[in-house]
Amino acid sequence: MMQDVAVGEVYRMRRQHPCGSWEWTVYRVGADIGLECRTCQRRVMLERRRFESRVRSRVSPAQGT
Ligand SMILES: [Zn+2]
Repeated sequence: MMQDVAVGEVYRMRRQHPCGSWEWTVYRVGADIGLECRTCQRRVMLERRRFESRVRSRVSPAQGT
């Protein structure tokens, strides 16, 4: 079980995005997790379970904390 996900955190995923980026910023947290690619700004929504299965590690905590 992962610790809680918070808006503004950056996560490194197990799979590379087609644009070449590995890192995504959380922009929304709910039943689904909203992620924005740090390189191409593409946004996706993932079910929490799918998000957790795709994450490799947290890169940074939310800005300003
Ligand atoms: Zn991308």
